[in-house]
Amino acid sequence: MINDIIISLKKNGIKVTPQRLAIIKYLENDKDHSSAEQIYNHLIKDFPTISLATVYNTLEMLEEIKMINKIKISDENVVNYEYNKKMHHHFYCKKCKKIYDIEISCKIAELKEFKGYQIDEVYGYFKGICKKCQSDN
Ligand SMILES: [Zn+2]
Ligand SMILES: [Zn+2]
Repeated sequence: MINDIIISLKKNGIKVTPQRLAIIKYLENDKDHSSAEQIYNHLIKDFPTISLATVYNTLEMLEEIKMINKIKISDENVVNYEYNKKMHHHFYCKKCKKIYDIEISCKIAELKEFKGYQIDEVYGYFKGICKKCQSDN
């Protein structure tokens, strides 16, 4: 909900601007784990004055308050972003370079502590060939 988002931004001392809201809204509806460039290319249509730097800065800010996640699994060092949903894993297709969400119950992902180490974050992903690319052969 956009109201919850605005409340959360204000609570974290982040000024609510139309550009920032547009970036969040885009990610909220995005299923492709877009890169900053892709988000920028989409927003430039509605905000002709927006810069790639603004998009990057906003993404950094939103990641810091954990509203969005950064995904670094691309073979080409592209950083992808997604709205922070419930815990899930990712599948990276080496052929089409797409990132898919994987819902899998995983004991490791639920660990809060391991041999005395406190676990705050868990990252897991798979790499391979997606269903679509397999059938394209
Ligand atoms: Zn693929
Ligand atoms: Zn995801």
